[in-house]
This record gives sequence, structure tokens and C-alpha cells, in this order.
Amino acid sequence: ETETEDFVIDDEVVKNIFKPRNEFSHKGTYGKVTIAAGSYGKMGAAVLATRSALKTGTGLTFTLAPKCGYEILQTENPEAMFIEGGSDVIDHIEIDESSVCGVGPGLGTDEETVKAFLKFLKDYSKPLILDADALNIIAQDKKNIKLIPEKSIITPHPKEFERLFGATENSFERLELAKNKAKELQIYIVLKDHHTQIINPEGKVFYNITGNSGLAKGGSGDILTGVLTSFLAQKYTEEEAAILGVWFHGRAAEFASEKHSREAVLPTDIIHEFGNVFTELN
Ligand code: AMP
Ligand code: MG
Repeated sequence: ETETEDFVIDDEVVKNIFKPRNEFSHKGTYGKVTIAAGSYGKMGAAVLATRSALKTGTGLTFTLAPKCGYEILQTENPEAMFIEGGSDVIDHIEIDESSVCGVGPGLGTDEETVKAFLKFLKDYSKPLILDADALNIIAQDKKNIKLIPEKSIITPHPKEFERLFGATENSFERLELAKNKAKELQIYIVLKDHHTQIINPEGKVFYNITGNSGLAKGGSGDILTGVLTSFLAQKYTEEEAAILGVWFHGRAAEFASEKHSREAVLPTDIIHEFGNVFTELN
């Protein structure tokens, strides 16, 4: 067997994926997103993921969150709609068939949430974006890993990856393990790091080179979840959504840290730069 080739995501690759908006369009053209996220004390993650979906062009955006986030979400993101999924934590998840769904930011791992998320996974077969506590819940019992729908995009940081698939000696071994798992499960693994690697279900690796240490703070991953879910809802393929989304997220961080410094830049500032990234792509 020949080794698969590895690719660097450069401007050319991204410009070939990106589809400019069509003037003869309406909100139905750009898909529906549901972000299932948030719990008492972690509603910011739901706010950020939802806002990222809104600011990357989704037609209609919903947040499924516990009731304690109702006012926060409606106030922070008036363009998004609220779906109640519990009281202080999510205890039921129902997503209409027409939505593309991102699950995990700030979800928590309350017993009720674990039950609700696993029940949801058992009945759901479309590709999902899975991040953060969605991955931590799956990692609690290795049998759950098989419940991840094929073609889903999972976005573990190194710790989450280790919880899911076990420890490795170094980043080379981690990448090899990720390739095997992506093939075995037929999923996309976004291995988040300084240079994030995207592994497709054939085990092919795409290296991202945008982004910087301004992203090394809480909330950065939550906004990536929103971006990826949004691009998948806008009819990019899973592979295109993953490549474009990871590149886009890093590029926005570059714009934002130019303005604010890597120290001071916040995920909120990065979302503010999404427009400049689109302008560059258009
Ligand atoms: P999370 O750990 O879930 O908040 O995700 C962090 C996000 O920020 C991922 O997309 C990482 O790739 C990115 N990130 C974190 N630290 C760095 C860094 N030093 N350089 C580039 N990207 C980073
Ligand atoms: Mg995270």
C-alpha cells in the first residue's frame, strides 16, 4: 500500500472551495443550523457558537439550550431563535430533520445531559459537528464511539482526543491513531492544535496554517463549532466545510490579533473579523 499524501491548506485551496453568495437567493438557500450547547454558568459557549453560525452566513439559526439561558441568548443573539432543552442543563434534544446540528460547547456532563445526548445519538443518523462535552460524554464509555454518525466532523483538542481514543507518545503517533480512527469510523477528525490537522475518512491529512496564540484561550473552540456547523448547513460537503471552516477561523484570529494583540484578543473580537475574511475571499 502506498502512503496517502498530506496537504497544506493554502489560499488557492480555500478560494476553490468558497462559494460567493448568490444575489437571487433567500434565507432558505443558506440552510438551518441548530447549536445544542450551554448549561448554567457556561452559557457563553452557546452564545459564541451561535453567534459564529450567524456571522458566517447561515439562513436560520437556532440555539437549543436550557431555560436558564433564555434571556442571555435572546439578548446576545437576537437573530437566533431559542429552543428549550431543559431547565439548568439540557435534558432532552430534539432536532428537526432540516437542521444541521452542532453539539457540545458548554454542554456540561450532568447525568441528565449524558442520558439526553446518548439517546439523541442513538436515533440520529445525519452528520453532526461534535465538540467539547459532546466528545467528553462519548468518551465516558468507549461503546458510545460507534454511535457517531458517519461523515460527522469531530473537533477534539489534544486532551479530548486522548479521552476519546487513548494516550499516545507524541504528535506523530497521535496523528497515526487519528488516521486509523477516521477510517474505521468514517468520520472527519479535526485535531485542534497550533497547526490543526483535518483527517478525512480515507485517512488523508490537511494541515491548517492560519491562526496564532491569540486563540489559546477559552471560547476559541466554541466559535469553531459555530463556523463548521454553519458551512455544513450551507451545502458545503463535510470535507469542504472542515477545510474552509478551520482555515477561516484561523484567518479571522489573525485579523483580530493584528488589531488587538494576541494577548488581548477575545473570541468575540475574532467573530467581529469574520466580515474581513469574507471580503478577502470574495
Ligand atoms: P478549544 O481548546 O476547544 O478552545 O479550541 C481552541 C482553538 O484554538 C482550536 O481551534 C485551536 O486550533 C486554536 N488554537 C489554540 N491555541 C492555538 C495556538 N497556539 N496557535 C494556533 N491556534 C490555536
Ligand atoms: Mg473546546
